[in-house]
Amino acid sequence: MPDKKNAAACSRENPNNAVAETHLYNEPYSENIVVDLVNAWKAIVSRTPLYPDEFFQYSLYMSDSLGALRGLPTTRHESCNFHSYTLPEPSKAKVSVVISFHNEARSMLLRTIVSLIRRTPEEYLHELIVVDDRSLDATLLDDLERWLGRVFATRSRLGLIFLRNLERRGLIWSRNRGAIVASGHYILFLDSHCEVNEGWLEPLLERLALNPRLAVSPVLDPIDPETLSYRKGNAMLKGGFDWSLHFHWLKRRLTSKERPEAPYKSPSFSGGVLMISREWFLKLNSFNPNLKIWGGESIELAIKLWLCGGQIEIVPCSRIGHIFRRFHAFEFPPERDFTEHASSQRSFAQSTYLHNSKIIAESWLDEYKNMFYALKPAAKGIPLNDTTIEELHQFRREKQCHRFHWYLWNVSPELRFNLEELAATGTLQNEDRCLHARNQKDSQTGRQLILTSCYSKDITQWSLFRVTGQLSTQRELCLGVGFGRILSLGPCGQNETLRQSQQWVRTGTQLMHAATHLCLDNPIKDQLELNSCRSHAVSQSFQFALEMERQT
Ligand code: UDP
Ligand code: MN
Repeated sequence: MPDKKNAAACSRENPNNAVAETHLYNEPYSENIVVDLVNAWKAIVSRTPLYPDEFFQYSLYMSDSLGALRGLPTTRHESCNFHSYTLPEPSKAKVSVVISFHNEARSMLLRTIVSLIRRTPEEYLHELIVVDDRSLDATLLDDLERWLGRVFATRSRLGLIFLRNLERRGLIWSRNRGAIVASGHYILFLDSHCEVNEGWLEPLLERLALNPRLAVSPVLDPIDPETLSYRKGNAMLKGGFDWSLHFHWLKRRLTSKERPEAPYKSPSFSGGVLMISREWFLKLNSFNPNLKIWGGESIELAIKLWLCGGQIEIVPCSRIGHIFRRFHAFEFPPERDFTEHASSQRSFAQSTYLHNSKIIAESWLDEYKNMFYALKPAAKGIPLNDTTIEELHQFRREKQCHRFHWYLWNVSPELRFNLEELAATGTLQNEDRCLHARNQKDSQTGRQLILTSCYSKDITQWSLFRVTGQLSTQRELCLGVGFGRILSLGPCGQNETLRQSQQWVRTGTQLMHAATHLCLDNPIKDQLELNSCRSHAVSQSFQFALEMERQT
């Protein structure tokens, strides 16, 4: 009989928790363990090498001052505390947690681990696999191994596995390595700057036990990188992506009967924290091992899951805190392939992202990959190994996976609507130059319109909307015409007057402004003007990277 367990977790509210002392909650632990833990914490953290905050992209001082464990505010819906979760027997639901880290602050990593051990029911937490992806702080892993083994020795059932990569391999490779080494039924992939909240496991486990081909994400509660305050994450968002294969949040719409705290289907995960049966994960060939370092792996896994018989759910009763950082806290290592082919303007981070996205587009998007290339033309120049793609197509045939078309109709209508709304998209080219909205550093208005090389870094991708005739950048600025017939970029208008000033009509390759009947023109080199329309004028011929076929 499955164990019925009431996870009425008594989390201690501490909303003003910017700085807290070393708090230790949940008291099945003896005094000695608490003392040991505090001592271990002090010993490990005191050996933190000196790095500036930019190194971690969060406040090291705040992290060090928070201690090993702090009380977190209850961020999930009240009813989650009283729900009686139907859980599998612990012997059939052993959980392995895989944490890969590269250059994480000692105090941050330690708090991630301690929160996990202290807030996970002992009978389910089978093992913790920590992979050090060749961090600069070379003694951290040894210190962890020494101290954690001692402090949590009473948890005889908890396996502690510490691995250090001999060379930097990236998150994708390291997580896959953890999954191979793991011996539990389920794997939780966790970032190294998280704090799990009370009762995080039961809601996820309940769902996974019902459907072995499911993968689940908690709602991620944002932890502020500067103050480390813990906030409530939004359970009204789904994970998704756009046609350039960038992650995006999508709005979740509730049906009248749906409760906001109920698990809901999502086209992709909420970030990189996810849980899945180990067997199913390995059957799906793990995270695509041809993806390099970081980026695209959870989108790839999401597409693979949905198309090959799985599902993804976000479970709002499960909450895990995560520091969302604005910038990467790590360098992307140089890749020989990219140095040979990359344009000098592109960083290794961008090349790696393009490389990974191109693999996803070539392996999964079928005919829709043209959308990706229209928005990311630079990906065309990135070299790929043909066998990489062939192997994936072989896998798709063996597993009888759906085509990408199915995903658009059954999983992510948002992506389909986006497609149906567009008349044309991608770079907008006149002769050998492309129309670009350049960022102006010292200007309030922000952007200047120029014609420049189509291969410039971050060249603007335009979208021409079928119904409104608006021509928009990815940042939702629309091309309009103001007083004096001056071309300008402004927020895409919602009201009728503004919309009219931003409406364009396409005749052949000309773009005619609907209200003035004037055409976009480039009469003198690299100068953008509005002039009377002249049919067949080369200076008025503007081509999008991708023209959509009209759908009848
Ligand atoms: N990471 C890693 N190797 C790398 C890059 C990242 O092990 O080469 C780890 C990193 O320390 C973190 C996880 O992978 O624990 C996810 O990376 P990050 O938090 O930077 O991604 P984000 O949360 O911003 O998507
Ligand atoms: Mn992260």
